[in-house]
Amino acid sequence: MRPLLGEEEASAAAEAVRSGWVAQGPRVASFEEAFAVRVGASHGVAVSSCTTALHLAVHLLDIGPGDEVVVPSLSFIATANAVRYTGATPVFADVDATGNLTAATVERVLTARTRAVMVVHQAGVPADVAELRALCEPRGIPVIEDAACAAGSTYRGAPVGSGALMAAWSFHPRKLLTTGEGGMLTTDDPEWTVRAKRLREHGMSVSAADRHSGGSAVVEQYLETAFNYRMTDIQAAVGLVQLSKLDLIVARRRELAARYHELLPDVTTVRDPAHGTTNYQSFWVWLPEGAPDRTDVLAGLAARGVSARRGIMASHLEPAYAGHPHGPLPMTEAFTQRTLILPLFHDMTNAEQEQVASSLNEVLAGVGVTSP
Ligand SMILES: *Cc1c(COP(=O)(O)O)cnc(C)c1O
Repeated sequence: MRPLLGEEEASAAAEAVRSGWVAQGPRVASFEEAFAVRVGASHGVAVSSCTTALHLAVHLLDIGPGDEVVVPSLSFIATANAVRYTGATPVFADVDATGNLTAATVERVLTARTRAVMVVHQAGVPADVAELRALCEPRGIPVIEDAACAAGSTYRGAPVGSGALMAAWSFHPRKLLTTGEGGMLTTDDPEWTVRAKRLREHGMSVSAADRHSGGSAVVEQYLETAFNYRMTDIQAAVGLVQLSKLDLIVARRRELAARYHELLPDVTTVRDPAHGTTNYQSFWVWLPEGAPDRTDVLAGLAARGVSARRGIMASHLEPAYAGHPHGPLPMTEAFTQRTLILPLFHDMTNAEQEQVASSLNEVLAGVGVTSP
């Protein structure tokens, strides 16, 4: 991934600096509004990262010690960590061939202590949230969405995030839109919005921005123990420009992905699921049966000037989760061990893409696996 950043973002950031208002202020408010509209949500609460947005989502549900939240192990580790921050226990469910939780995999791990399900739209591939809601809602279990990678993906004809109870988004440079670091919580619920805005700002009864623009002296109160999860106006200025490019970025990524599909006809790769379209935040490929060891494939690609990465991580295999109990996760383990992620970025040229594809085809055929 290479972020698509240009002069427009640079001058927007400079303008925020020149304005003298660099902490959370008017640009954050505009970014929240514009982003929420784009993903079909009523409200947006900008925060410092997707990780902090996920933490707020779990916190807003009053989840804590003794409670369980179902998450995929096949995800960036922040998904599971956000549950642990509240003292609750993440319970790992397996994924299907699209890399996402399903009603069947979640149902297997529900218990009397399950207080929420956190579904991930993995690498931009939309999960079947309606199916999950049909399982969870009759049991009174809220479904919250880790949409870190999914800006611009669609689900049943609508943007991913529309109709979500709560969805958390990331603006890390590894995602389609970036503000350097940053995140957003979106929801249709006005009360959660008010409380999330308070929780990101130390539990203050009046935001700093409102106190300064209010004119008269307003004395704030601190209503509950909260956090500093604010986004800066410099970041939001960049985010507004980035958001205006989202459609362009998604269209280009889908064009590049279609070309990979043509160039790699014999390899199983990420594709649109039946119920939506992906923004191809990551383009993963499965190593075929009998392929060389993945470490050798990555080395072979590197020797040909191609920087690929291992597939999506599995949290339960990391030292931070050593000894954490879980049931069988066969698809998760196959996914994390047998996939790799190919380069895909907006300005990628045809020649670069051909180099990646021919290098992969060569390495998979066992041609000079480690030394070309
Ligand atoms: C990137 C990512 C996160 C964390 O996002 P940050 O903004 O870096 O905190 C969380 N969940 C998933 C699925 C991600 O891909």
